[in-house]
Amino acid sequence: MKQMVCSVCSYTYDEAKGIPEAGIAPGTKWEELPENWKCPWCGAGKEAFREKKDEGQTVTQEKLEKPHVEKELSAMKMSIICSNLSRGCEKQYLQDQADAFKKLADFFKSKAEPVGEANVQKLLELIETDLAVGYPYGNSVSSEKPDRGALRCQVWSEKVTRMLKSLLSRYEAEGEKIRTPLPKS
Ligand code: FE
Repeated sequence: MKQMVCSVCSYTYDEAKGIPEAGIAPGTKWEELPENWKCPWCGAGKEAFREKKDEGQTVTQEKLEKPHVEKELSAMKMSIICSNLSRGCEKQYLQDQADAFKKLADFFKSKAEPVGEANVQKLLELIETDLAVGYPYGNSVSSEKPDRGALRCQVWSEKVTRMLKSLLSRYEAEGEKIRTPLPKS
């Protein structure tokens, strides 16, 4: 009997327990759940679930593909970074610094090329690459140092990225329907 964990919200499906209140008997195998089964907490599909591993299991260190080559950031990326830094400063009540970063963000934005192919599919591709290559690489670098702050950033931004992926995939499949509020249970 295995347990499957939702990578978006951490809900755990336990084969031994099933979900009797949803008509899924104890002992129901993961594979026996319908393909369109959705996470009861967040609505993510089965593909968002990973098998729960025993605690203390160490991640095997393999040679990881480097997700990027160091090069100058584009004006758009600089603008996004400065805009995030501005918000970060704002949250810490550093208004002067926030204003300065905002000015930089606007400056870089005025120099940026318009984005050519902005659509859901493209966004999902970028997210896929982050999850498949970017985060494993970032995690390995911050574990090697080790840098606990960077590791925490990795963990949380990976979670947010998985949430985004789940929402975008649902948006792709269901369209505007996903914006309908859930009925009160
Ligand atoms: Fe979930």
